[in-house]
Amino acid sequence: MPFRDCIGHQTSIAFLQAAVNHERLAHAYLFHGEDAIGKRLTAIRLAQALSCEQPPDAESLDSCGACRSCRQIDARTHPDFFVIEPDREQATQQIKIEQVREIEHQIMYHPLVGERKICLIDDADRMTIGAANALLKTLEEPPAHSLFLLMSSRPAALPATIRSRCQSLRFTTPARTQVEAALILQREIPPADARFLAIISESRIGEALTADVKDVRSRQQELVDLVRPQSLQSIGSILSSAEAIAKADRAQDMLVWLARWIRDLVLIQIGGDRDQVLYLDDLTTLEAYAKQANTDLLLELLREIELTEQRATRHLNLHMALEMILLRLRDALTASSIPLPA
Ligand SMILES: [Zn+2]
Repeated sequence: MPFRDCIGHQTSIAFLQAAVNHERLAHAYLFHGEDAIGKRLTAIRLAQALSCEQPPDAESLDSCGACRSCRQIDARTHPDFFVIEPDREQATQQIKIEQVREIEHQIMYHPLVGERKICLIDDADRMTIGAANALLKTLEEPPAHSLFLLMSSRPAALPATIRSRCQSLRFTTPARTQVEAALILQREIPPADARFLAIISESRIGEALTADVKDVRSRQQELVDLVRPQSLQSIGSILSSAEAIAKADRAQDMLVWLARWIRDLVLIQIGGDRDQVLYLDDLTTLEAYAKQANTDLLLELLREIELTEQRATRHLNLHMALEMILLRLRDALTASSIPLPA
């Protein structure tokens, strides 16, 4: 699949196409922007476009997605295309000097099939100092046929010397509507699910495309059950819910869902755009709470959840944190005075 499946990055793509058309493609680019928004996919599509054996359009750079080169790049078996990335199994997730040295060695030789040797470095900011220094040597005198594509969501963490050797391309997060449309088309899911995934992923399309709809919907339901007036009425039931969630090791995740729900509530209270509300299915309850909830306390709770997430290490007792937050939520919602539905 060529460039058209890179959702929301038309400007960056047009820029790269123009650079190729004018024979001004740099030897190194730094694609930077949030995680999971399509930087890596765009880099792969660029590598395919530059190596394609049957380009679909002579005027504008793109790939066919089906020829041997395109398929080999997808499968990472193309002899002139290399990927360096951190070992995701390792806790430190570093890119080591040996990884860079190996590619460096390969990239010196002429391309075997096409005109270029292309090296994609994902999460480039995770290079060790040794790896970065090794790469810098190559970037200072890159072989004429080489193209380095560095991806980073934390470009400031890269050595300035590396950044200055790369042309920078900023990738912005695609619009929610673009993500929704792509999800409906590519995943063939109902619009309500597409909207839901687009919101919870904050338009990070890479995440939305792979999320398990059934799983996230069931977690949403779990939260809805947790914050029902019936559930919040008795302190005993709050404590036992918190215990069950903590025992299932789901406290941290539940806090994320809770923060989303509180945000919805505040949004309704301040008369914000309903289109931004995540828990649309639960609007009646949200509106009932919104009438009497204490906004100051809700905002404080959001801050509290954020701090808990930042502190979330093995040393923090998440069970206690969840319990405390739920009890304070109960106060903020004055839940005990909400009439139970008939
Ligand atoms: Zn092709």
